[in-house]
Amino acid sequence: MSGWKESSEAVESGADDGLSPVSALVALGSNLASEWGAPDETLLRAVERLDAISERLTVRAVSSIWRTLPVGESVGPAGQPIFANAVATVETTLGPFELLAALQEIEREARRVRKVFWGPRTLDLDLILFDELVLASPTLTLPHPRAVWRDFVLGPACEIVPDWRLPTTGLTLREHRRLLGENFANFESTAFWTQVVANGDVNAFGQNV
Ligand code: AMP
Repeated sequence: MSGWKESSEAVESGADDGLSPVSALVALGSNLASEWGAPDETLLRAVERLDAISERLTVRAVSSIWRTLPVGESVGPAGQPIFANAVATVETTLGPFELLAALQEIEREARRVRKVFWGPRTLDLDLILFDELVLASPTLTLPHPRAVWRDFVLGPACEIVPDWRLPTTGLTLREHRRLLGENFANFESTAFWTQVVANGDVNAFGQNV
């Protein structure tokens, strides 16, 4: 697609400084208590930390918190605790690698413990979309390659930015969510079908979560 922005030295070095801000989509997940408390509390603190972490980044919108089943696992004593998931949009003049570093710093602050791939985690932050950037580097892939298979990303994202498009497919998040739903029966591994729970609290950004 001709409109794609491509990987470059400028992007690698975060040399976007001083340019006009871009919008990005961040996904948050937690299913273990962290330094900051239970998973819901952890997500809210993570959003607050994200908003505060740089003068060059502002959180614009936050979804509800969704309750989701762990991928490929039973829930309960033999399996994993249920996940809390949400997404947030940010506006930033940080480069994509700087934003990823900020997310990783917040994960560290929450003392993320990750013993197994797809195992329980105190806090997982993924960069889903960064403007229209398409990138495949060793440390950062954009758009996030598994986002379109994850209703725990697409569901919350459709609450706040259903019309954002993936630069790779040209489809909106709403269209991707519909496709995922239509194909659900064909993907046994997508046993993580989600249930939204809005708990009625109001977060620091004045939105219902
Ligand atoms: P995970 O713990 O499964 O979230 O994976 C984290 C690793 O994925 C880190 O080493 C990142 O460098 C890498 N990674 C690649 N693309 C992304 C992305 N879009 N968002 C977050 N992490 C990413």
